[in-house]
Amino acid sequence: MNVIVCQLVVAAALTLGAGTAAAAPVPDQTATTVTVNFAAKTVKSGTSVTFAGKVDPASAARTVWLQRNDAGAWRTIGTARTARAAYKVTIKPAKVRTDRYRVVAPGTAKANTGISRTTTVTVRAATVVRGNPKAFAFMYPGRARWNPCTPIGYRVNLTQATSGALTDVKGALARITAVNGLRFAYRGTTNVMPGGRNDTYPGDTQLVVAWGRPGKDTSVIPVGAAGQGGGSTSSVYTRSGTTAWQVVEGYAVLNSTMRFAPGFGAGPKTGLQGTRGQLLMHEIGHAVGLGHPKIKDKWEIMYPTMTRKPAVYGKGDQVGLRALGTGAGCLYARDPSRPS
Ligand SMILES: [Zn+2]
Repeated sequence: MNVIVCQLVVAAALTLGAGTAAAAPVPDQTATTVTVNFAAKTVKSGTSVTFAGKVDPASAARTVWLQRNDAGAWRTIGTARTARAAYKVTIKPAKVRTDRYRVVAPGTAKANTGISRTTTVTVRAATVVRGNPKAFAFMYPGRARWNPCTPIGYRVNLTQATSGALTDVKGALARITAVNGLRFAYRGTTNVMPGGRNDTYPGDTQLVVAWGRPGKDTSVIPVGAAGQGGGSTSSVYTRSGTTAWQVVEGYAVLNSTMRFAPGFGAGPKTGLQGTRGQLLMHEIGHAVGLGHPKIKDKWEIMYPTMTRKPAVYGKGDQVGLRALGTGAGCLYARDPSRPS
């Protein structure tokens, strides 16, 4: 077992060993190898990162330096002592960017300097959730929701979609799952067009996401709207035998004549505001049971107008979504509280 004798969180860069550590190798000395436990890592802002590995040879404790590459120069930002060859250094990188790191074991009387491979750490901005937790509403009478205890099979009609559309659909669904636990199972592409000539779902499909032209391919998108989401419901039971309403088939149809910026960023400053990701999160939000909040709060994805903002479900959206997710309990076609 390796005993770690030193573990430190670095608050400020140390001056020790700034610059390169590569001393000229001394002939007839042993080469030093330094391992490090990862090649690349992505973390959220505010998360600690631990560099760990082994130094060989390390018959006695050796010092190691953790170095970061700042504009081409290696700068020591932390140190540790090895114990039975093992070292560990923990840092909390603050800046949202990708940095290169390496671990150096400076030379001793018997061994040359050793340098690990270079590793990268990418720091992503932590997601900021904004808005009013009271700004949410439900879409269907009886607060109908999907059964959270079975996956929702979905297909995507990409006939009129632009590139990257499927990635954004999956991204929007993953954002719902992250909030309320609803599970979605991708069944493939389809030619089904909700509100169009071919609107019969395959047996494995309960949700269809499609792009179409309002009035031409589909009747569900109101004139001038960017899209529409909805579904149909059925009377079911909760575990205790109370009557409830379940969404059994849903759709999100997007206006293919409006080309939104892809992804989930804030979107462009001019032209169509918002992103395809935001629009998908809104229309699929309807399909899973959210309506437009009465409280006008533009931080909510369910705000009825596309706005320039990062596509993140707002505080109100999240309260509403959680009431429609796994926490609300399974739904049953037959009353499970009565013997059959
Ligand atoms: Zn809407």
